[in-house]
Amino acid sequence: MKKKLIFAIRDDDVSYFTKANEYNYFCEKIVKSFSLIAGIILNQKGCPSLNVPLQYWYTDLNYEIKENIKICNLLKDLDKRNNFFPAVHGYDHNFIIKKNKLIPELRQKNSSAKLNKNLDDAEKFFRDNFKNPLRLFIPPSNTISSNCAELLFKRKYTLFNYPGVFRQSRKSFSGYKILIQRLLNIILKRIDLQKPYCETKYSKCFNSVPLTTISSKKKLKFIADECSIKGYPFILSLHQWELSCYQPYSSKKFEELLLDTISYLNANYELLDFNPEALTMN
Ligand SMILES: [Zn+2]
Repeated sequence: MKKKLIFAIRDDDVSYFTKANEYNYFCEKIVKSFSLIAGIILNQKGCPSLNVPLQYWYTDLNYEIKENIKICNLLKDLDKRNNFFPAVHGYDHNFIIKKNKLIPELRQKNSSAKLNKNLDDAEKFFRDNFKNPLRLFIPPSNTISSNCAELLFKRKYTLFNYPGVFRQSRKSFSGYKILIQRLLNIILKRIDLQKPYCETKYSKCFNSVPLTTISSKKKLKFIADECSIKGYPFILSLHQWELSCYQPYSSKKFEELLLDTISYLNANYELLDFNPEALTMN
């Protein structure tokens, strides 16, 4: 009998620039009937980013997803399924360059005040377009300041890939409770923050496995076995736009790696639908 594995595909950058025909192909050929978490960018900034076409890199204008009627209609169609989970993926998904370092949206100064307003806009868009949206959030570039994390937890958001305890100290009482619980998880339950894990009872967070880090079948098996044994979800994170890019030092595209990964999981595990609401935290 195959081992059970809770599984979902997480695609991060659905925006004004996502082409509906390509996204449709991605859903029909790859996602099929698996759970899909779609990270939606409401208001993509024209900035140097691989999910933005080159001719828009320096416009510094914002491009609203609602102007792309085709992609909005496709998302509404996907929403008819009961295993489609739209998630807020930042607001304008921009970053600034400071001292030769890229600073993503939610690491910039005063980002939490801006985030508060952005979440109001996002919640309105989600209510207008989806039947029963959950409060899900994927931090742009998988990173976030502690103030933004506090705000998201206060507004009852479930986070994906809020990075580990060592990156940031927490500033509030609940922040310290999360910190202590995480440390105990690491020590007592031997949770590795680089692998899928369930967060503390004070916050809800699901780690994901980036497609680009699956370097071998051995590594894939190791992570999938651990998720299966512990009952953690295996959330495979990727960008639909990167599937047509070549893997480093290879003549194969990422689409091939993705198809191989899914067929390996399908052949070796009984894949169950991930549902962020259904999973209780430890
Ligand atoms: Zn992104």
